[in-house]
Amino acid sequence: MNCIFCRIIKKEIPSKIVYEDELVLAFEDIAPQAPVHILVIPKKHYSTLLEIEDKELIGHIFMVIKKIAKEKGIDERGFRVVMNCNHEAGQTVYHVHFHLLAGRQMHWPPG
Ligand code: IMP
Repeated sequence: MNCIFCRIIKKEIPSKIVYEDELVLAFEDIAPQAPVHILVIPKKHYSTLLEIEDKELIGHIFMVIKKIAKEKGIDERGFRVVMNCNHEAGQTVYHVHFHLLAGRQMHWPPG
């Protein structure tokens, strides 16, 4: 399978890793949309959220997001978590990922 995020997990493609454990990897987005823009992904390949039935994995991902937010010092000011599912939402990489964005004022609704 030629998945760019699977290749990042295997360290075949370099990335700026922020956090790693046996289940997830977090790394800096290559085209940041905010001063902090980190992608948190499961190591197991799921194309979209629709494929995930593992509630513990989803919970773990959010615990990792919380941990990173605290470590980056963005927890008090605020941060946004975005998950684009399928093309109309703007998903471009089909390995499920959660965007952690912070460091600037966010707007609502998102575009
Ligand atoms: P999506 O549009 O929600 O699918 O988000 C995909 C994200 O992956 C975008 O924000 C891209 O900038 C990011 N991205 C794509 N390729 C790479 C890479 O090789 N390293 C880090 N981030 C990437």
